[in-house]
Amino acid sequence: MRDLKLELNHTYLLKFGSSDIVSSVTVLVITDKAYHIRWNRGLESNDTWELKDKLYRSYNIVEDISDFVVAGNKEEKVLNVKTRLVQCHVCKGFGTVPDSNSTAGTKSCPLCYGSKMIPEVTEIS
Ligand SMILES: [Zn+2]
Repeated sequence: MRDLKLELNHTYLLKFGSSDIVSSVTVLVITDKAYHIRWNRGLESNDTWELKDKLYRSYNIVEDISDFVVAGNKEEKVLNVKTRLVQCHVCKGFGTVPDSNSTAGTKSCPLCYGSKMIPEVTEIS
């Protein structure tokens, strides 16, 4: 298959001949005659040089999966939030707020639930 053209740094699913064997490969280096490719097999991954001719004869591109690979590797952004406890501004540190419906005349503070302190964000990194 002569129109098999691999691009640098792209990751492809290649099907071996007419079999159902599909491999994920990433193109590391392209020379005139050969590709340096990584066979993505988790811990079994290895890099080999393959002559273009041989690759063209043996494999067909199933799909360019570069976009999927990049999306999968995207680091999850984890916010590091630092807080300090400050006096609750709703109950002013009493832990209760006036409540005319209650016989006690107060109810637990809806913000700090009686703990009198609330966390205040001081730093997000
Ligand atoms: Zn409160």
